[in-house]
Amino acid sequence: MAEQNHKVGSRIAQDEKLRMAELERIRHSAAHVMAHAILRLWPHAQFASGPAVDTGFYYDLELDHRITPDDFPAIEAEMQKIIAANYPFERVTVPREQAIRDAQSGRLGALTERPGQPSKFKLGNIQDIPEGEPITYYKSGDFIDLCAGPHVERTGDIGAVKLTSVASAYFKGDERNPQLQRVYGVAFKTKKELDEYFAMLEEAKRRDHRKLGQEMGLFVIDPEYVGPGLPMWLPKGTVICEELEKLAKETEFMAGYLRVKTPHVAKAKMYLTSGHLPYYAESMFPPMELAEDVKPLNRDALTREGAESDSTVQRSNESTAYYIKAMNCPHHHRIFAAQPRSYRDLPLRLAEYGTCYRYEKSGELFGLMRVRSLNMNDAHIYCTPEQFADEFNAVNQMYLKYFKIFGIEKYVMRFSTHDPAKLGQKYVGEPELWKQTEDMVRQVLKDSGINYIEVPDEAAFYGPKIDVQIWSVIGREFTLATNQVDFVGPKRFGLEYRDRDNTMKTPLCIHRAPLGTHERFIGFLIEHYAGNFPLWLAPDQVRVLTLNDNADLVNYAQQIVNELRANFVRVSADFTPAPIRAKIADAEAERVHTMLVVGPRDLQAGAVSIRVHGKGNLGAKPKADVVADILQAIKERRP
Ligand SMILES: [Zn+2]
Ligand SMILES: [Zn+2]
Repeated sequence: MAEQNHKVGSRIAQDEKLRMAELERIRHSAAHVMAHAILRLWPHAQFASGPAVDTGFYYDLELDHRITPDDFPAIEAEMQKIIAANYPFERVTVPREQAIRDAQSGRLGALTERPGQPSKFKLGNIQDIPEGEPITYYKSGDFIDLCAGPHVERTGDIGAVKLTSVASAYFKGDERNPQLQRVYGVAFKTKKELDEYFAMLEEAKRRDHRKLGQEMGLFVIDPEYVGPGLPMWLPKGTVICEELEKLAKETEFMAGYLRVKTPHVAKAKMYLTSGHLPYYAESMFPPMELAEDVKPLNRDALTREGAESDSTVQRSNESTAYYIKAMNCPHHHRIFAAQPRSYRDLPLRLAEYGTCYRYEKSGELFGLMRVRSLNMNDAHIYCTPEQFADEFNAVNQMYLKYFKIFGIEKYVMRFSTHDPAKLGQKYVGEPELWKQTEDMVRQVLKDSGINYIEVPDEAAFYGPKIDVQIWSVIGREFTLATNQVDFVGPKRFGLEYRDRDNTMKTPLCIHRAPLGTHERFIGFLIEHYAGNFPLWLAPDQVRVLTLNDNADLVNYAQQIVNELRANFVRVSADFTPAPIRAKIADAEAERVHTMLVVGPRDLQAGAVSIRVHGKGNLGAKPKADVVADILQAIKERRP
């Protein structure tokens, strides 16, 4: 079974990889075509660099004319002509001296030589190419660009393009450099894919978590009193947070995790030890300086005698810096260190829905997606190298279990590995551990048939990592969480366990957070479900509605409400004499998941008519069956 899965998994991963590589070539080639088109309109434009990005491509350029969306149709029309001409992309390798000469004559990133207008940014780019590395041009029609490639074979291979926006950018992102215009576009293999992409964006706008979150009363951000990027969960949003926590707690309990609780602050010493200070300081809230009270040493004795008074408390002259925590790991490391550990205690899995605070720049804050306070589905697994593969696999299986519950059908695990040439600089200098853990992670991924791609040279400083990317039902991509191996943290904190052979050893640590943070995950779920949460997750699960306000009928309906509430179902009642049609419309508008409608005939038959939000009337059933069905669907967390 594992073998079969393995093949399917790697085939999907392989297809995805090829598709992405092709899309990237199309996008980057489209940047060349856009530059070509802009030069036909403004031959003196100076181009800097034009890479493919996640959603398409851009090219940075300097031009006295300010490009606006009004110019897009003219640029796109020229691009269409260049695509129709089907020019081949020809690769030419040139000696450095020639490249410099061509840049000086203005020929690079241009259609002709431009005497007196050297290709200044290209000249800078040539100087960045290390001596001895080949310098290549790509030529398509008259357009010659300094570029390392790769591209599609011919301009005609670019199926569909559209320009989307224009922004400002500094050359090489440095404010001291000249300000450039950055023109963005998207490109796809076919017109159909392009249309689908824009349709998806439209749908995403309709499902925008900020809009729906407000409409549904899930959360509020109060920049004036609380602060930007610090969402507060309203009662209905809190229901979702707590249902997710319940799911995590049950799942982690079954998987042998132990729960801990830690404070939101710690001394600077904690983060100097972890290495977050000073390197991560700008992503943390600034420190609080506390002048500690110095109490007499034998405080217990004093207290017993009731002799403690203000006069015995002295103020220290020295203050201590406390930081609000940006991550939970250091606290968990100290919990590991709080007791002597032996191999028998491992694996030790410490879990906490920990609240962290990160200082994101205000310009980068975005709804629930980029925030300053994060409720994280966190846990740290301390294990021996022998236990590592099983633990890592169990974490991956937990992801898959969650994907199933949430109906997440498309995902990919991006496995980032180190580059041995950069050991000791970009990556901690532990060649054996890197090789060993990466081999184990790769094996686990292969054996379990998980859909993954391997990305060289993108690991964290302290170990290989897996970024989990998921797609919402409408096809938008989200980075959900990161799953990391860490062989630095435990060492920095001096964590040790006594092994079988009586020697002290350092455990490995796995950081994992399959449900990410409440903020990001609920932001994703709002879009994924378009606000129509499944029964187990819906803030309003059931509403009982009566056809009229007849006393016997209301009494019967109230019994149903009581029975559901006694079973912890979030149930409300609408027994008013208003027309049933209006009562149903209200419940639908409020996204109540299940509506139970009772009329005189139901009362007589001991039945209930069921309506499900968005699905309409599902007919009548005996009351006992309806209640049992609802409880079962919630218990199973039916999608
Ligand atoms: Zn290129
Ligand atoms: Zn961690």
